[in-house]
Amino acid sequence: MKAIAPLTGAARVIGLTGPPGVGKSTVTGALAAVCRAAGMRIGVLAVDPTSPFSGGALLGDRVRMQDHATDEGIFIRSMASRGHLGGLSLATPQALRILDAAGFDLVLIETVGVGQAELEIAALADSTLVIVAPGMGDSIQAAKAGILEIADILVVNKADRPGAQESVRDLRTMLSMGHWAAGQWKPPIVSTVASSGQGIDDLMARIEAHWSWLGSSAELVARRRARAREEVAAIAIAVMRERMGGLPGDSRLDDLAGRVAAGEIDPYSAADDLVSG
Ligand code: GDP
Repeated sequence: MKAIAPLTGAARVIGLTGPPGVGKSTVTGALAAVCRAAGMRIGVLAVDPTSPFSGGALLGDRVRMQDHATDEGIFIRSMASRGHLGGLSLATPQALRILDAAGFDLVLIETVGVGQAELEIAALADSTLVIVAPGMGDSIQAAKAGILEIADILVVNKADRPGAQESVRDLRTMLSMGHWAAGQWKPPIVSTVASSGQGIDDLMARIEAHWSWLGSSAELVARRRARAREEVAAIAIAVMRERMGGLPGDSRLDDLAGRVAAGEIDPYSAADDLVSG
């Protein structure tokens, strides 16, 4: 990491998130195709926060990315890190750094929108795409629950399905309730049929527009600084946990836990003991 640090910072990072089945992998594949055609080198990280198994084809990315399998200008990696020390927040930025240093122009990070994961991905990305599909009341509910706050671009995929117009309208209504100061980015809504490629050029144009806006405001610097802050904090916490031996199954922690459970000491004193010891 020390050696590659000076080589990082050039790659653009695009995060794609949304509920299962809305077409994230298909959109990722379609975007990758457009960017490859434009001569860009593409890295794809498919992150499954719900699985403890690493490196598998858990998001189905292998299947849908098959067209790209023999293309040297694209690198695809599945990651899963539930239950691993530090989880996504520790593993993903490091994978991103390697791809950045290796000279990939664009890194697409795809993850299922569950729990914390989408927030972590949004924290990593320069541009975050939140993808929904029609007929999934859930996805709109998810949007209401705060997913809108992380979206730089809202994508209604499966626009060939009934209800697509309603989904666009619902999102538009929700957006109209927000307040955007002059010069602030207001998330556009893009309809796509990722399986046929329809709307992908328009989506790419919106991504480019967002990139231009990031560059013209102080936002890019601010986002990358926030990303670095999260990264440093995640590593520091992992290092501290390791030094303290404060992991389940650790004998010192077990010993302290036994004494707390028996009422011999209070949990604050036990925690102090763990940290200082
Ligand atoms: P993910 O779980 O969000 O990554 O979703 P996938 O990319 O795996 O897509 C789920 C299913 O929806 C697959 O069978 C895709 O072929 C299909 N799909 C993806 N995009 C579209 C679309 O625009 N229209 C339709 N009708 N189906 C789509």
